[in-house]
Amino acid sequence: MAVRELRTIGDPVLRAPAADATRLHLETPAFAALLADLVDTMHAEDGIGIAAPQIGESVRVAVIEIASASTRYPGMQPFPLTLFVNPRVVVVDATEQGFWEGCLSVPGLRGYVRRPRAVRVEYLDAAGAPRVLAAEGFLATVIQHELDHLDGVLFVDRVRDTTRLATVENYQKHWSRAGDSPDI
Ligand code: ZN
Repeated sequence: MAVRELRTIGDPVLRAPAADATRLHLETPAFAALLADLVDTMHAEDGIGIAAPQIGESVRVAVIEIASASTRYPGMQPFPLTLFVNPRVVVVDATEQGFWEGCLSVPGLRGYVRRPRAVRVEYLDAAGAPRVLAAEGFLATVIQHELDHLDGVLFVDRVRDTTRLATVENYQKHWSRAGDSPDI
């Protein structure tokens, strides 16, 4: 399909709550093309997740994939390519955990974000079948970051201590113990 232009912070589409995909929409070639474009753009940008508003489509669809062969982020557990249509997050364990986050739509920045440590996601797969996924640890953070995009929220909104907002260069120089953190 196609690598699409990435929308970046300041573009209003990233701040608009996205609409659910309808049953009718799910069965169209345009919807299949959107899913393929999301995957192609995520791969081209070397991200581990992307949401439709990040390519300018205000619809509730996101993709996550943590490749097992990732040498850039060696500490991460792999997670297979998964498409989330109309996802809803339920917090399973509200105990907070913190990770440094980056975002394809917020180039050049890293920020320390605290989020609930375990969630359940209810969503439709690409064929429209209902699915449920339980996630904890870093994957739970990735899912919450991605689904925030569907509500017009960016990770910088969730950085409570803004002394822990840094350029990539300063993150690696002053904060990182193990290389860079991924773009989500
Ligand atoms: Zn993001």
